[in-house]
Amino acid sequence: VTGRILEGGPVVEKICEELKPEIDQFRKTHGVAPTLALVRVGNPLPAVYYSHTIDRTFTKCGMGFQLDAMPDETTTEQLIRRLSDLARAKNINGILLQHPLPKTIDARTVTAAFPVSKDVEGISPTNIGNLALDIGDYFPTSTPSAALEILNHYAIPIEGKRAVIVGRSNILGKPMALLLLRANATVTICHSHTCDLASVTRQADLLIAAVGHPKLITADMVSPGAVVIDCGLSVRDGELIGDVDFQAVKEIAAAITPVPGGAGAVTAMTLMRNTLSAAQRQAIQSATQNRRPWLPLLKSRNRKR
Ligand code: NAP
Repeated sequence: VTGRILEGGPVVEKICEELKPEIDQFRKTHGVAPTLALVRVGNPLPAVYYSHTIDRTFTKCGMGFQLDAMPDETTTEQLIRRLSDLARAKNINGILLQHPLPKTIDARTVTAAFPVSKDVEGISPTNIGNLALDIGDYFPTSTPSAALEILNHYAIPIEGKRAVIVGRSNILGKPMALLLLRANATVTICHSHTCDLASVTRQADLLIAAVGHPKLITADMVSPGAVVIDCGLSVRDGELIGDVDFQAVKEIAAAITPVPGGAGAVTAMTLMRNTLSAAQRQAIQSATQNRRPWLPLLKSRNRKR
């Protein structure tokens, strides 16, 4: 029996319907659209495709979108400088830095310097730390949130299930594990050093692929009746391919997301939700500051002491 196809489209429409009135209200009140700046270093095809998806989705829903494409030879310092310029830019409410970054960039240094208030992808240490501890204000990491959004939309239970995640990156595998733990799954994380990957993935009720290796997950690696979420995106001969061998695995799994049209499409919506709330927070903050014109005076007086 062919598994249920967990299309991202209906989830996208539901979130768009939920956000549209708030986006319209924001535009009416502030005269501008909440705006995302997408920063990309180089032009890897999956990243280019993904930025098109985000641009299209944001524009369709009345959000603002700005592409900051930086050349391959960009240095760590130049990237950090660009991020801090965007952090100060009044017309930008959220920043998305596309991953994986080229090997020439020191990803740890960039992550450590990422501007928290505009971190709508949820990758900064503060965001990930708050997610891990489940405290304070944080933006839930966008792709893992999209995976959860799909599971919830299709009423797939998570609690008590054995979840296996393949991939442990800071933007995908690790936050995915944290979100699934919070939803009371029993979580295993695999990576490039995992021995006998298939024997681990076969234990999964819920299998999340987050690697970037086309068709790594084959039918013999999936147990009958498992639910499979494919977050991977690669381009081969002009075709978009996920980490899962979709045609073969859909005959075994109970449910599976397609690529394209699955997790990636919904990620654009979780990013949109985070960008809108960042814009709303920033508007409240600046209104509060404007109501207290004496505040900078007070601050400078305190500094003098
Ligand atoms: P990444 O930083 O390169 O991480 C890849 C992870 O996969 C690493 O943890 C790596 O293990 C692991 N891995 C590599 N080969 C493996 C193998 N043979 N067996 C098991 N694990 C293996 O990549 P990323 O930034 O997380 O992105 C992963 C994929 O998701 C890419 O295709 C990317 O385009 C896609 N993506 C999709 C979305 C979306 O919205 N759908 C968003 C972002 C990214 P080690 O840690 O041991 O190296």
